[in-house]
Amino acid sequence: MSYSFGTTASRGVVSKLLSAGYEAVFVGGAVRDLLLGKEASDIDIATSATPAEVKEVFVHTVDVGIQHGTVLVLFEGEPIEVTTYRTEGTYSDHRRPDEVKFVRSLEEDLRRRDFTMNAMALTLDGSLIDPYGGKKDIDNGLIRAVGNAEERFREDALRMFRAIRFSSVLGFSIEESTCRAIDLLANEIRHIAAERLKAEWDKLFLGREPLQAFQYIHETGIGLHLPAYPDELMTACMHRPFQTPMDGWAAFLIAGNLEPAHLARAYKLSNVEKAFLQSIHSAIQIRERRFYTNIDYYRFGERVLLTAESIFNCLHPGKASIEMDEIRGGIAALPIRSKKELAMTGNDLLMWSGEKGGRWVGVWLDKIEQAVILGDCRNERDEIKEWFLHEFERER
Ligand code: ATP
Ligand code: MG
Repeated sequence: MSYSFGTTASRGVVSKLLSAGYEAVFVGGAVRDLLLGKEASDIDIATSATPAEVKEVFVHTVDVGIQHGTVLVLFEGEPIEVTTYRTEGTYSDHRRPDEVKFVRSLEEDLRRRDFTMNAMALTLDGSLIDPYGGKKDIDNGLIRAVGNAEERFREDALRMFRAIRFSSVLGFSIEESTCRAIDLLANEIRHIAAERLKAEWDKLFLGREPLQAFQYIHETGIGLHLPAYPDELMTACMHRPFQTPMDGWAAFLIAGNLEPAHLARAYKLSNVEKAFLQSIHSAIQIRERRFYTNIDYYRFGERVLLTAESIFNCLHPGKASIEMDEIRGGIAALPIRSKKELAMTGNDLLMWSGEKGGRWVGVWLDKIEQAVILGDCRNERDEIKEWFLHEFERER
């Protein structure tokens, strides 16, 4: 069987390397995704040419990871990653090879890859190079380490979590001896940097079967050694794929009864991501007590409330649920979305009151904002003026 593969630019890069007398093939996730009938996210090319040789073949290149053998080639306006065939030396810290050695044989390069399905290559003319039986494992839906799973996980402990991530993304099972090795070496995951785990979590959440991944996390005991992993997790929220990674993090937070700041710190989440989790946490706390009000619609906005509501519904399937449309409608019906939309400004307050500026202006703008959101006063200049003068007098 022959496969047709690659964008015009990536085929052009392979073709040029071949003409220059080197080997060059497509490798990794993109080949796997082709066999799965999925669209590949990024296309990686492996070559027998050293980075210096790659740079001689192409006019425009960028050194993105020369020490790992990767050169970014800009070809017909497209950035294409080209990596020299390499093996990895010893791993004294369970996460990074002490040295990377460039080699001239593709087979050696494929041997250092994590799983059989990720250790295949495809030539320009469409033939599959599959020394470890990746295609068969894909057909059987199996994630299998290349070679001895224990050794491979001792070299790089992240591979264990990648196996679990792929079980969600592809809905595949982890092959028995590979799974046993995770069981055995679970605690080695503590050597792995939070950022690398976070990147795998993000993909896990977007996968088709997050629940399966959580089952593996539980069964293998790796959860005990993952940062901020809860003692108990309500898996009710994990049945469906998440729309975005942050929806996944939100469900993880609530289902695991975690503190937003703790989770954010453990995985080095960005400030924006942390703020999102904090909002979800507050929104759910409110929702446990009562339905949302206009103030909540205004404060949290659609993105937070829709995510919070879907989590709430999973946790309390029996409770009355607000339809998502009701939240959307409630937010759409808000008279304003932010203070900037008020039909007046702080200057108006000075004019209307005849007072000098000061902190009171901000305080009253907040009160007006609240009155408008609650419908005590419409967002019209004259009406706000009347409401303000009345209340201002009253409080004097
Ligand atoms: P995705 O589609 O999510 O990008 P991928 O398989 O392409 O999945 P990448 O992280 O992009 O994953 O890695 C590209 C390739 O590099 C993999 O297919 C695999 O061959 C190899 N690889 C990546 N990480 C490791 C690792 N920790 N150990 C061994 N090989 C790895
Ligand atoms: Mg990839």
